[in-house]
Amino acid sequence: MKRNNSENAYKEAVKYIPGGVNSPVRALRSVGETPLFIRKAAGTRITDVDGNHFTDFCLSWGVFILGHGHPAVKKAATKAIARGTSYGIPSLQETELAMRINKQIPSMEKIRFVNSGTEAVMSAIRLARGYTGRNLIIKFDGCYHGHADHLLVSAGSGVASLNSSSSTGVPDSFVAHTISVPFNDKNAVQKVFREKGKDIAAVIVEPVPANMGVVLPKEGFPEYLREITAQYNSLLIFDEVITGFRLAAGGAQEAFGIKPDISTIGKIVGGGFPAAAFGGREDIMSYLAPDGPVYQAGTLSGNPVAMSAGSVTLELLSGDGFYEELNAKADTFITKLKNSLYNKEIQVNHTGSMFTLFFTPEEVHSFEDAKKADQERFARFFRYMLANRFYISPSQFEANFISSAHSEKELNRFIKVVTKFQE
Ligand SMILES: *Cc1c(COP(=O)(O)O)cnc(C)c1O
Repeated sequence: MKRNNSENAYKEAVKYIPGGVNSPVRALRSVGETPLFIRKAAGTRITDVDGNHFTDFCLSWGVFILGHGHPAVKKAATKAIARGTSYGIPSLQETELAMRINKQIPSMEKIRFVNSGTEAVMSAIRLARGYTGRNLIIKFDGCYHGHADHLLVSAGSGVASLNSSSSTGVPDSFVAHTISVPFNDKNAVQKVFREKGKDIAAVIVEPVPANMGVVLPKEGFPEYLREITAQYNSLLIFDEVITGFRLAAGGAQEAFGIKPDISTIGKIVGGGFPAAAFGGREDIMSYLAPDGPVYQAGTLSGNPVAMSAGSVTLELLSGDGFYEELNAKADTFITKLKNSLYNKEIQVNHTGSMFTLFFTPEEVHSFEDAKKADQERFARFFRYMLANRFYISPSQFEANFISSAHSEKELNRFIKVVTKFQE
């Protein structure tokens, strides 16, 4: 494969940008590669600066559930741009998108928009602390909630493949109020509540973790989190930045039938533009400025272009049978994939239209399990897939995504190529 232009672009980028990238995992170091530079994307196809085409299963980390550049989304964004790209003053688009979100995710009674998932989570935590007057936060090992200081404790995603559970530059005192416990471990949660229940502001969880690779909650685990937080008057925060509008129109909370107190959403909700949001019970959200004492703000928050793209995206997703069709397509694909992998010591974890291949003979139910997966084998697999023109997420601590734009032909070719992988 010709890579000269990407290599030159990388040489130039590293002169000005640390590692040549604006998010570490894009550097592809853990899979022994150098970054691809992308020139354009449409549907499921991304094209690099050397003219190589790849079928994309990363989809900007799950953003493009409709595929890249859906015509209706493009049209809405272009129309919005023609009316100015930011006002710093309210616009109708913000209320429209908030109404759509509230309709799909009714637990988000009131919603505030921000620009990234990191910001959404950071604000949700501050709000939970402000509302409860407590400091402690419980999170789960391998769950990733963005890169805010106090959540970089046993974090997943790009932090996981760096082999460090945390980051330097974060004073111990900043994480002193964060307790990380193993996912799917009721006893560990119960122990912390018994000891410190009165000080726990909130439990934050990815209802289906996707940042240690996809890991499914055990039967009853999400319900248990709802019960115990209610029992101790702590808040339950569902970080649905990936799962929101991915697993169902109403996210994982609809799939599980659980009502969290606060939810965070991102990725899909901006229709490919930088937007995210947090929202929840009205009495909690009323603690936010200007109604209440918890401060939170943003120059570009509720950006009209992002709001327009987001609204059209949610409109398309709320169409009859969208998720039934997408999830059925994904189920068929995963079943075939699993059958073809039989005996290769690879686990396929999957729910809805997201999946992870773990290179380990044992089932993966926690970060502990995920970390046992063979990173060298995966690195070889990634490079093999790339050579066969598939762009998958470059780590086992990430999810792959199927969009409505993926054709049966593309999915079948993926399986065929995977089956021929020689270790
Ligand atoms: C991606 C992600 C975030 C962070 O969102 P950014 O937009 O990258 O800041 C937070 N939580 C979860 C569950 C995510 O998947």
